[in-house]
Amino acid sequence: MTADAAGRVAAGSSGAGSSGAGKSGAGKSEAGRAGAADRFHALLAAFEGRPAATAGRGKDTVNEPMIRHWCEAMGDANPAYSGPDAIAPPTMLQAWTMGGLSGHTDRSSAYDELFAVLEGAGFTSVVATDCEQEYLRPLRPGQAVTFDAVIESVSPRKTTKLGTGHFVTTRTDVRADGELAGTHRFRILKYAPAAAPARASAPVKPVESAQPKPRRPRPVVNRDNQGFWDGVREHRLLIQRCTACATPRFPWLPGCNSCASLDWDTVEASGAATVFSYVVMHHPSFPAFTAHEQSAAAGGGPYAVALVELAEGVRMITNITGVPYDEVRIGLPVHLEFLRVDDDLELPVFRGSEG
Ligand code: ZN
Repeated sequence: MTADAAGRVAAGSSGAGSSGAGKSGAGKSEAGRAGAADRFHALLAAFEGRPAATAGRGKDTVNEPMIRHWCEAMGDANPAYSGPDAIAPPTMLQAWTMGGLSGHTDRSSAYDELFAVLEGAGFTSVVATDCEQEYLRPLRPGQAVTFDAVIESVSPRKTTKLGTGHFVTTRTDVRADGELAGTHRFRILKYAPAAAPARASAPVKPVESAQPKPRRPRPVVNRDNQGFWDGVREHRLLIQRCTACATPRFPWLPGCNSCASLDWDTVEASGAATVFSYVVMHHPSFPAFTAHEQSAAAGGGPYAVALVELAEGVRMITNITGVPYDEVRIGLPVHLEFLRVDDDLELPVFRGSEG
């Protein structure tokens, strides 16, 4: 397979080279660029046939609980997938080979090397494009799954609406008790986004350095909650109150949940509150939410999201400041303050009392 791939590469390169030389009328730089692209593709094609994973082992044998969960998630009630003679749904083929959150230990370095070459040339983005599966025999509970994966092909440079790049196809042969049960082909496009053209000849600087500071999402302000955001601008936390039954409500809504009245006024929160409940966000990290003393590890570390109960009786979701995320607790007394997030955004948050 490697020899075959190398042969095709050699033929492709020489062919393009001679056509470039023959077109003497065409711009030299165009021919030069085409030649560079071909040389770069030859570099990529050398990865064809190299293993992406060798002697991989499924983390679990084929088993009924995973089959049942799959069928529930897919809404598949086919009787073939339950009972004493159950088989696994063929479309679960890849599921038996997945590494889970802890990943695979059997992955080869070739795939990482190929990605490094593509990224070094500016093809920094990736999108999964399609997958094909072939089923040769059914998988049954109790069978042990093993697999080998190979980089099957790397396409010449293609231009798509997303940008220019190379399609990489990986083929995984899945075996049950040593016999080939099916084949899974997975294709991705590794590309340079259309706005930032790739150059095969020179490495491109990482994109990260050019990215602006992450910003928090903007609140959606509409007719129903305009008054709340007007209050925030004046450093007042306004709670709606039904003028018919005096029930306070938050967040802002057009009508009363207790009596359906559309008439309301507002009361200004005193600012006293306690933590009613909370969660700590660990993953995925959102640097925009940790840049303001949410966490000692500004830039992506864990942070607490709290549901606080105000003295006026309503609850709101907010951030807790002044207390490390791992010291936030239910019942913690907190007090309203306004956090300037950036030039355009100020938010009501709650500061934990010291000690
Ligand atoms: Zn009411």
